[in-house]
Amino acid sequence: MPTPPAPLSISVVDNHTHLDIARDGEAPVDVAEAVVAAAAVGVDRMVQIGCDLPGARFTAEVVEKHPAVLGGVALHPNEAPRLAAAGALDAAYEEIAALAAHPRIRVVGETGLDYFRTGPDGVGVQQDSFRWHIDLAKRLGKALQIHDRDAHEDVLRILEEEGAPERTVLHCFSGDLAMARICIERGYYLSFAGTVTFKNAAGLRDALAITPLEHLLVETDAPYLAPVPWRGAANSPYLVPLTVRLMAGVLGVAVPTLCEAISANSERVYGPW
Ligand SMILES: [Zn+2]
Repeated sequence: MPTPPAPLSISVVDNHTHLDIARDGEAPVDVAEAVVAAAAVGVDRMVQIGCDLPGARFTAEVVEKHPAVLGGVALHPNEAPRLAAAGALDAAYEEIAALAAHPRIRVVGETGLDYFRTGPDGVGVQQDSFRWHIDLAKRLGKALQIHDRDAHEDVLRILEEEGAPERTVLHCFSGDLAMARICIERGYYLSFAGTVTFKNAAGLRDALAITPLEHLLVETDAPYLAPVPWRGAANSPYLVPLTVRLMAGVLGVAVPTLCEAISANSERVYGPW
């Protein structure tokens, strides 16, 4: 298990984590332990994302038990085509809509497009599902979190066609400078994950460097994408300080300044914990 980083002096939010997911061969996450370990290094709030039906049900339970945890629910862009093929998509939508209405579920997400994992067969369902989730977020007045893998143009186009919710977050931002500019111009939030610390991520750091503080969020996407020097290990919210410190360096701001901005942005997007 990675050693905890030095604590941040001003606390931040991990705005996208999957406490319901354990990587293959690893023990399930102990939520209470994860919350305590994160708080000990200044990550005192988090947003748990459940993006299939079992995950969404888990999320609705966890947000009631843990004051540090708010939630998001959706059908992942790789999940919607599977459910459609099984004839189970409409029932799943109904359940997601019901769970999303919970007062501590503040996010519809992650939704969006994934052209990496899902082949051309699934694109139609993915796009319909993305549009359905955008509409749900607007109907319920929740924030929207977007998963975009190899689908930048279509993600931006569909958001424009549907009209993005007032609070729209590009989770695990993976775009380049040009995409960052468009997102900033449209008022979206860019959430950076451990990927921004990877050696080969110069393009991502260029995008980060031009992002104004008031558009920035940070996340783990745990258990995936652990930041350097723990790349490949199981990720957990307590590793967020590593990503935050790297980001502050790229932005040329003091770490507490960035933490203050991330904390304020998170409360603006998701409401108070
Ligand atoms: Zn995720």
